[in-house]
Order: sequence, then C-alpha cells, then structure tokens
Amino acid sequence: MSVLIVGSTALDSIKTPTRENPRLLGGSASHAAVAASFFSPTQLIGVVGEDFPKKYLDLYRKHKIDLTGLQILPGKTFHWSGEYEINMNNRRTLATELGVFETFNPTLPKAHQSTGFVLLANIAPALQHHVLDQMRKPKFVVADTMDLWLNIALKDLIRLLKRVDGFVLNDSEAVQLTHEDNLFVALKKIHKLGPKYVIIKKGSHGSILSGPKGIFICPAYPLHTVEDPTGAGDSFVGGMMGYLATAKGSIDANIRRAMVYGSVTASFCCEGFGLNATTKTKRAEIEKRVKELEKMTKF
Ligand code: AMP
Repeated sequence: MSVLIVGSTALDSIKTPTRENPRLLGGSASHAAVAASFFSPTQLIGVVGEDFPKKYLDLYRKHKIDLTGLQILPGKTFHWSGEYEINMNNRRTLATELGVFETFNPTLPKAHQSTGFVLLANIAPALQHHVLDQMRKPKFVVADTMDLWLNIALKDLIRLLKRVDGFVLNDSEAVQLTHEDNLFVALKKIHKLGPKYVIIKKGSHGSILSGPKGIFICPAYPLHTVEDPTGAGDSFVGGMMGYLATAKGSIDANIRRAMVYGSVTASFCCEGFGLNATTKTKRAEIEKRVKELEKMTKF
C-alpha cells in the first residue's frame, strides 16, 4: 500500500554552532516523504513557489515520490530558518517566511483519495482536517504537530485528535498539551482525547508508544556525532508509516518494528544537514542499523 503525506515543503536555512547552510530542502513533508520512500510508494501533498530549485524536485523524483499532489505556484517557497545551541538539542526559530504556504489549499488528486495510509505531518491542523475531509476511508491515519499549533490552534488540534488513529508529538509538547510532567500519565490523558496509538518522541532518548498492546519503549540509534537534527522527528514518523504500509499483518503486529525502522531512518537524517545524509542512505544500511539496535536491546 502507499502512504500519502501532507505537510510543509520548505527551504530551510540552518545554523549549528560550527556551520551554517542556507536554503536546503526541508519541511516536515519532505523529510517524512523521503523517509517513507525507503519502504513504500509515497505520495507528497504540498506547495512550493516558482523559486523552488529544480535539483530538489529531482531529489524527490530520485526517491520515486509521487509529485502529482505538489502544487507549484507563483510566489516564494516557505522559508524557515533556525539556530541550534551548543548541545544540538535546543533550537530557536530565527525566521519564518510563509510565501505560497500562506494560502495553501491542499487538494488531493482523485487517485490519492483512496490511499490506505495517511500521514498528516506538521502543518496547521485546519489543513490536516481539510486533507482528511477528502480521503475515502483510509486504513490508518497518523498526525504529527508542533508547539506553535498548541499555542494558536488548540481547538482545531483537539478536534483532529478525534479523527485520527495515531498521534505523534514530542515530550515538551505532551507536557504542554496535558499539563502533566509524567509522560506515562500524559499518554493516558492523550488517549482520552481520541487516538488509539500515542507516540511521544524524546529526541536522542528514543520514543514511547502507548497502544492497545500496552507500552513500547523504542530506542534511538546511538550516534557519536550529530550534524543537524532538523527533520529527525519527521523522518521517524515517515519511516514508521512507510514500513507499516508495506508490512503484512495488523498494525498491532507491526507498529513496534515500524518504530524501530523510523528511529533508524531518523539517525541517518541527523548525520547530515537537511536531507543531505538521508538522501544518500541505502535500504541495506537501514537494515544493518536495525539489526544492531536489535542486539543492543535484547535481554
Ligand atoms: P523537526 O526538526 O522534526 O521539528 O522539523 C523541522 C522541519 O519543520 C523543518 O524542515 C521546517 O521547514 C519545518 N517547519 C518549521 N516551522 C514550521 C511550521 N510553522 N509549519 C510547518 N513546518 C514547519
């Protein structure tokens, strides 16, 4: 089965304590789609401006990402810039220029409306709703979010949680949403808002799933150097959805392994700026790290 991914398609300018890289291919949907494409056919829904470099369209194509749902409109591509502190975990947004993203109206090509797996990557909850409104009975829908939407679009987000099977957010967002510091209590509170599967991401400390089969602690692949963690969360959820879409059997039977594949895909993302390392990764390298993680966590 294919995965349909909607989210931001951006140009990212990223500063780390040692390097600076302007106008890289970025956005939640770009990271998630490249990650998903290692495992399953992937459809991208997004918008870019006429300034969007052809080499980035070629990168999507190299990953066989279906671009029929990517709009190219007069105007500028969404531009995000951020700067990391010395610990490479704390990040602050320096600028957000919306460009064509400001009036983005995601419209699904007919052929995409019956796709089985849907990832509503980080984007305004109203747009996530709009995409779901166009889908015909998808098998499994997961939504991601960010602190911005908890601050300015909480009502829409809460409404969305009633419509999705899974919800993925990071630890600080879970605390902000539930006013609860204990993540296991926070997971319970988020289930009450709707989703059957809730995943809390904890950056380099992995992630926690709470679902019908209980809790699963998913490790992060141990890296000695992190070049740029931008998009790691999107790569995680994209890889997970791509794996789930082609795995045989039920969601419950596959979701833990799918998270490990997502986690490993995210580790490659962290090893280069933007999508530089992810797009050079081979499926065999992913398999090798999954096996290593399996050994590291077996007891
Ligand atoms: P992550 O590191 O997983 O939080 O994702 C970073 C990505 O989010 C970057 O590639 C940005 O282009 C994208 N991004 C930043 N701000 C926004 C926003 N307001 N809406 C959608 N995507 C955003």
